[in-house]
Amino acid sequence: MLTDVLGRPLLDLRISVTDRCNFRCTYCMPETDGQKYCFMKKSALMTFEEITRLAEIFVSLGVRKIRLTGGEPLLRKEIDRLVAMIHKIAGLEDLSLTTNGFLLKRYAFALKQAGLDRLNVSLDGLDDEIFPAINGVGVKSSSILEGIDEAIRCGIKVKVNMVVKKGMNDCEIVPMAAYFKEKEITLRFIEYMDVGSRNGWKLDEVMPSKEIFNMISEKMPLEPLKENYYGEVAKRCRYAGTDVEVGFISSVSQPFCGDCTRCRLSADGKIYTCLFASRGTDLLSSMRSGASNDDIIAQIKGVWRIRRDRYSQERGKHPTLNGKRIEMSYIGG
Ligand code: SAM
Ligand code: SF4
Ligand code: SF4
Repeated sequence: MLTDVLGRPLLDLRISVTDRCNFRCTYCMPETDGQKYCFMKKSALMTFEEITRLAEIFVSLGVRKIRLTGGEPLLRKEIDRLVAMIHKIAGLEDLSLTTNGFLLKRYAFALKQAGLDRLNVSLDGLDDEIFPAINGVGVKSSSILEGIDEAIRCGIKVKVNMVVKKGMNDCEIVPMAAYFKEKEITLRFIEYMDVGSRNGWKLDEVMPSKEIFNMISEKMPLEPLKENYYGEVAKRCRYAGTDVEVGFISSVSQPFCGDCTRCRLSADGKIYTCLFASRGTDLLSSMRSGASNDDIIAQIKGVWRIRRDRYSQERGKHPTLNGKRIEMSYIGG
């Protein structure tokens, strides 16, 4: 098994399929007063064949779970064709996708047909003033909720992820919990992180999971559940007397670097061994200049074997913003 300096195996791969997004979430890709984002050219993006070749190589190295992400992955033309290609890889145990859900109603059926059984939808509130202001483009939660319903109707398992930022949407915690409890859909709360350099992150805007837990359990008592598998990032609970789960991803207050088995592949074919990295290793250029699978395997092993990342555990030791970090919309969360 391929392990890094801290003994962590390479088990998960997150593939960003585009750096573009139809949302401008204030904590991720905020609107920039008329200044345009500079997106990758089409020729810089990996083709589906290139993505699939890399995915196969990663699976041969021990990766068991692949998640497609972005930017917004449903903006990538014919994403269902890519899902079908990756779904066929022998040895891959789990394929999922993370989306903001805006285009889900349209694509859910095609995604299911292509073999997608699971997806995560990001939704940060239900309120018709709060959620449109967070996503920056005025989209109301009803269109995301319709996408979720459609995905479930098509037979896809859905989990919902909510980033909580104090003063932005903490008042939506209990309404979101109540809504998804009723719907019997797992909701996971994510602590607001200092990824990238555009969101002006401040520690005092982070709402620790413990506070969220307390807020919910005052209204709806919660019982803790055991870890499902090694490296599971969400601490799971269920509403007492039910099988409905709720999860807490405490990247800031209880970092989980010790179990971090994830590698990230950007849409332009670079691998990053941490969300907080400033530099990646370019696999796409190697592929395009004729590297064999063995050459690429050697490149990946070389990167993983010297990996020492544990940014979240050392957060206090790093300057908060050094202007060189990769953005969440580039690497996909
Ligand atoms: N556009 C898709 C979406 O929003 O689901 C996929 C890409 S998005 C970068 C992946 C996840 O990262 C989303 O759940 C989003 O809420 C989360 N995210 C983005 N910026 C974040 C931040 N600063 N702190 C915590 N989570 C963040
Ligand atoms: Fe887009 Fe997802 Fe970032 Fe929101 S969180 S701006 S939907 S990439
Ligand atoms: Fe993994 Fe880096 Fe996050 Fe730690 S900070 S859990 S090493 S991505």
